This record gives sequence, C-alpha cells and structure tokens, in this order.
Amino acid sequence: MAQFDYDIGIIGGGAAGLTVASGAAQLGAKALLIERESALGGDCLHYGCVPSKTLIKSAHVYHAIKNASAYGLPSVDVPPVDFRKVADRIRSVVATIQEHDSVERFCGLGAQVEFGEARFTDAHTVDLDGRPFSAKAWVIATGSSPVVPPIEGLRETAHLTNREIFYMDKLPASMTILGGGPIGIEMAQAFSRFGSRVTVVDMSNQILGKEDKDLADAVMAVLANEGVIFHLNATVVRVREEGDRKVVVIKAAEGIEQELVSETILVAIGRTANVNGLGLEAIGVDFNRGGIKVDNRLRTSRKHIFAAGDINGAYQFTHAAGYEGGIVIANAVFRLPRKADYTYLPWCTYTDPELASIGLNEKAAQARGIDYSVWTEAFQDNDRGLAEGERIGRIKMLLDEKEKPIGVQILGPHAGDLMSEWVAVLNGKMKLSTLASAVHPYPTLGEINKRVAGNYLAPKIFSDRVRKGLKLFFNLKGRACHQPQDKCLHDCEME
Ligand SMILES: Cc1cc2nc3c(=O)[nH]c(=O)nc-3n(C[C@H](O)[C@H](O)[C@H](O)COP(=O)(O)OP(=O)(O)OC[C@H]3O[C@@H](n4cnc5c(N)ncnc54)[C@H](O)[C@@H]3O)c2cc1C
Repeated sequence: MAQFDYDIGIIGGGAAGLTVASGAAQLGAKALLIERESALGGDCLHYGCVPSKTLIKSAHVYHAIKNASAYGLPSVDVPPVDFRKVADRIRSVVATIQEHDSVERFCGLGAQVEFGEARFTDAHTVDLDGRPFSAKAWVIATGSSPVVPPIEGLRETAHLTNREIFYMDKLPASMTILGGGPIGIEMAQAFSRFGSRVTVVDMSNQILGKEDKDLADAVMAVLANEGVIFHLNATVVRVREEGDRKVVVIKAAEGIEQELVSETILVAIGRTANVNGLGLEAIGVDFNRGGIKVDNRLRTSRKHIFAAGDINGAYQFTHAAGYEGGIVIANAVFRLPRKADYTYLPWCTYTDPELASIGLNEKAAQARGIDYSVWTEAFQDNDRGLAEGERIGRIKMLLDEKEKPIGVQILGPHAGDLMSEWVAVLNGKMKLSTLASAVHPYPTLGEINKRVAGNYLAPKIFSDRVRKGLKLFFNLKGRACHQPQDKCLHDCEME
C-alpha cells in the first residue's frame, strides 16, 4: 500500500498552484489541489491582473472618446462613468475565464480539488477542516496579500485594497493612493481617466521604483498631464476619518506636514506572503518577511516541500508563478534538478503608454558594476506611432562591454506586446544583425525593435573606413549632392 494518499499536494489554487496541479496530473501524478476561497483562480483572476486590465481598457476607451477631437473627430460631451457597469464588465470577464479554472476541468485533467484552509500537521500531512491529507511532496502556492502598514489610524479608517477596488458600487469622486508601484500607478491613471481626482503618495523620489528613473519620470509626466497629483519623497504620518472624508497627513522631505482629503484611500504599498496559519514553524519550513525561503530548485528548508509563486517573494507576476510551477513539476514529480533562471524574466506596467522591461536596466547594471552602453529609438520617429497618435516613449537597449544585449526597456504603446520579440531574441541568443535585417511589416510599432538594433549596427556598416574601401574597390564616384554647410564640396572622403 502506498505510504501517502497523493504523489503531490498543492496548497493554493492561483497561477502557481493551478500550473503544478494541471501539469502534474496530466503527466500521471496523483495530485491534490487545496484552495481556501470558494473558487479557483487566485489573485490574478479575481483581484489582480484580469480585473485590473479589464478596468484599464474601460478607462482607455472613455479617455479616447473624451479626446475624439485629437483624431479629427467631432468632440463629444460624455456622461459620467457609472462604475457599477464597469464592475459588471469586470465580473463578466472574470466569469468567462473562471470556466477555464473550474473544478470540473481540473477533475477532467485528473487532479482532485478540495476547498478549505490548509494547515500542516506534520511534514507530509495537511489538515483540512479536521480531514487529514498526506502527500509525498507538497507545494506551497498560497500567494500574497496587500500590506497594510502600521500607520497611525489606517486600520481604523475604511480603505480599499486590490480586493475591493474592482467591485465598487460607485466611482469615488476622489482617491488618495498610498504607493507609487505598478498597482498604484495603473489604478491612478485608470481612475483619473474615469473622472476621480487622484493623488499619489510615495516615499521614494520616483514612481515605479524598480524602473530607470528617466522612464518612470516619463510615465509620471503623462499621468500628471492627465491630472494626477503626485507627492514624492513624502511619508504618511497618520490617517483619520472625518464623516465621509478620509484625511491622509503626509510629511514632505522638508518636514512640512500637509493634509490630503479624499473620499477614499487605496493602499498599494506592497505585498506580504500568505504564510499565516499554514503551521510552517512546526514542520521546519523557514520563512521571513519576504516570503518562504527557497533554493534555485524552489525547494524550501524541507526538501520535499516546494514554494512557488508570490509566496517565495522572488518575482510577483503571474507569468513568474506559471514558470515556477513548471520548475516544481520537474523537481517534485520527476526529480529532475531543474533550476529557476530569471535572467530574462520580462514584466510590464500597463499604464498608457506601457512600460515593459526585460533583463537589466541601467539601475540594475550599475548595481552590478557592469559597463554598458545605451541605444535608443523614439516612438515619435515610428510612422505607425504617429498614425496612431502615439508619440510618447522610446526603447532603450543596453549592451555590455562585449556589445552583447543585456536588457531592453520599452516605454510606449503596447510595450508589453512589443517585448515579445525581445523575449525570443534574448532567450534564443539571436544576433542583433539578424533582428536588424529581418523584414518587419510596415507600418508597425514593432519596427522600433528592428530600428534600435539597426541604430547600433549603422555606424559599423556606414563607417568612413567601409565607405572608402568600397569606393576604391568598386570605383564609385562618391557624393552626388552636397549641402551648402558641407565643409568640402567634393569627395571629402578621399582627402
Ligand atoms: C492589482 C493587481 C494587478 C496585477 N497585475 C498583474 C499583471 O498585469 N501581470 C502579472 O503578471 N501579475 C500581476 N499581478 C500579480 C499576480 O496577480 C500575482 O503574481 C499572481 O496572482 C501570483 O500567483 P500565485 O499563484 O502565487 O498566488 P495567488 O494567485 O494569490 O493564489 C494563491 C491562492 O492560495 C490560496 N490560499 C492562501 N492560503 C491558503 C491556505 N492556507 N489554504 C488554502 N488555500 C490558500 C488563496 O486563496 C489563493 O487563491 C497583479 C496583482 C495585483 C494585486
């Protein structure tokens, strides 16, 4: 008789847990998936990526209608946003995707799904409402929750997090957002476009702290131009509720206190790993504030217990969770020593314009002491960008001292999608000359990728040396036309 009930048990039915459950079950492992909420899908489906991107699209369309005259169309007086309808659309998109993450589908794949709050009673057994389930290997994929910092008065003051913001009954007239990270900034632009008066507070000297400051500042300028108010280098001192008004008291770098009054507060300061109640201390699984500690095979301090997704604190993205799910299947089910490698893990902040990144940016290269050069191309020189009315943004390509690409950042329309080509280039170790010489359809935003590679190669191809050599070899006559400002009026190259 088998020693354990299951080959693999997974706690958490979000991006990471679902990937492990479906993959392991389809490959023949007896898999158990435990979820504490009433539906599968996790934060991404219910309170994260899907609702936020659906909301952002509604805000984008509303903004475009309001700005119709910029496209040569009649200007329109649009009625205010009825947020219940936006929330209904979000619910309908979530419901459609939910079918893909249904219990029936997972059962069809061969995985058993149980609902309830899981707690380890020993290193191989989990208790679920008094029922024990044992497995040879376990995966902790319990995700993360919004941090609500111990700011005076914050807990006593009604506020929003990503759990509530997508399903509100009405549009707040005004919103103070604590935190200028990706979630705070995406929401700031979307709610400002809907018509809320939005103020963002961040203690740092830039928004989107992981990004290069020049690109983050460019995003901030767009939002500021649309009406978002920013308080950087500012700390929140205390918060209080006065009737239906919320008051956030901030202290600027100069030490001056200021009161920000709004109808609601969104707390978007960061994420904390969902470790509480799992009984990890008792079974010897190490964790700290950043999450559960793992090695590069995603094994915890108990080698048969793995941690994937937001819970390990590495990269808190759905695609990272999915990637890590694959690493866990290889290690936990098949004992293949596959290691996680995040060198080319891309990400994107879905503002308009979007800001996407892969590999090292300038900040990261400097932190590692790498000598690099930066090559850029602007969207204002991209014909499709101009046709679309999208002039803001640029691509930055970083090369190391051996002229090997080490990272790319794109600020611009559909930057997240444009990044896909670099995902292939960098992972496939493709030469920049291949990218630069590959034919791209015209006119597309994607030509910017080819152009930035071309910018790097052009000085090598069109150098004086090459030109002189070709001229001699093929007996070419040289320039046919000269600008008046040219220093020499005939065949300068040959002199
Ligand atoms: C507003 C917002 C927008 C985002 N947008 C993007 C985006 O555009 N792109 C992107 O890549 N990422 C985005 N993210 C991040 C993304 O949502 C997370 O990285 C992803 O959901 C992590 O997946 P996970 O499986 O680790 O955790 P989760 O999806 O959170 O799943 C964990 C699951 O574990 C369950 N659980 C917890 N404890 C227990 C327990 N004791 N017993 C049983 N079940 C338990 C939870 O209920 C949950 O369902 C966004 C996040 C937020 C908040």
